[in-house]
Amino acid sequence: MLDGNARLNLATFVSTWMDQNADKLYNEAFDKNAIDKDEYPATARLETNCWHMLADLWNAPDNSRTIGCSTTGSSEACMLGGLALKRRWQEKRKAENKSIAYPNLIMSSAVQVCWEKFCNYFDVEPRYVPISLEHKVLDGYELEKYIDENTIGVVAIMGVTYTGMYEPVEKISKALDEIQEKTGFNIPIHVDAASGGMIAPFLQANLKWDFRLERVASISTSGHKYGLVYPGIGWVVWRDVDVLPKSLIFEVSYLGGKMPTFALNFSRPGAQILLQYWVFLRYGYDGYKAVQKATISVAEYLAKEVEKMSDVFELWNHPTDIPVFAWMLKDSASRKWNLYDLSDRLRMKGWQVPAYPMPVNLTEITVQRLVIRNGMSIDLADRLLDDIKSQIKYLESLDTALPKNNQAGFHH
Ligand SMILES: *Cc1c(COP(=O)(O)O)cnc(C)c1O
Repeated sequence: MLDGNARLNLATFVSTWMDQNADKLYNEAFDKNAIDKDEYPATARLETNCWHMLADLWNAPDNSRTIGCSTTGSSEACMLGGLALKRRWQEKRKAENKSIAYPNLIMSSAVQVCWEKFCNYFDVEPRYVPISLEHKVLDGYELEKYIDENTIGVVAIMGVTYTGMYEPVEKISKALDEIQEKTGFNIPIHVDAASGGMIAPFLQANLKWDFRLERVASISTSGHKYGLVYPGIGWVVWRDVDVLPKSLIFEVSYLGGKMPTFALNFSRPGAQILLQYWVFLRYGYDGYKAVQKATISVAEYLAKEVEKMSDVFELWNHPTDIPVFAWMLKDSASRKWNLYDLSDRLRMKGWQVPAYPMPVNLTEITVQRLVIRNGMSIDLADRLLDDIKSQIKYLESLDTALPKNNQAGFHH
């Protein structure tokens, strides 16, 4: 009762709406445990179907050689992707009689917090490549400075949480080709496609970011973001069984035999797997494309309207990649408010639109971000614009400055 309204939560990437059939299916399946493969063999089978569909969607060269699984979300999926990178590196180093101390992983300073957690929990040194105004995302620039024989991989993000921008995976991959030529280090890529994995195949089908790039060893996504399922589902797929070390795999019983599993959790809800399968079947490729197109057109509309408020705002980016964009406040000596104040004022109207500082090297820049999801209609977007305009009018009419507000309560 005291929570915010989920549909007006424009801070989250996570689904807040599914259709009535999905609600009914959820209701009928909430008792299923995803780990009980032998007890619920149909759910186990549909899980396998889902990640095979994703392997196809992400252009795996030979689907019969891929391997994947469901998780509770991208965080767990990223942990599994990271663990596979680390174990592969360790096994290779051991085979060469070399030290396995001090593995490192290269990533942008604007990574989602799950990568900081991965490095912390699994003893890997994170090497952050800072973003800047010239290099707004990790793009391969000066990558060689960060890489050495202990580098287990590079994380490329399809849909950076701060801004929604894609990292150019193909460019990063080419930079790694050059590094390999010079140094011999063969560095794999894990693509964290938490949101982009369910957008790019539909809206930017020609963009090469997935298994079409040989260096991409694994891809993870959140089924509960643009995969259009309620919270609690993620996916990870490896391009080939050979890149997922067998030493990480456990066997559970299934139909009198054994089934390989790779997961951090044991028990967890199985209903979300069924919901994912339902939306895959219900929408199909064309249906997903239609939904994502509608969503991005609402985002583009909002970005254009925000851009028109050029006396106060400056866009950081247009929603050209995923339906997410951010803006900054223009400098003005006489301004008596900041983006945190606007965020608070919008909260009074029910809207949750976060403001936060950019990562290291750019922390003096505060941005405000909108994440547009399925269910945010043009009508709702107009109501939001009305509220933004009326709140700015109020803030601009203040005759004394508000107390300094730096309450960034928002976490990526
Ligand atoms: C949301 C997100 C995550 C974490 O995903 P969850 O599904 O919330 O666990 C990781 N990486 C990126 C880029 C994200 O956007």
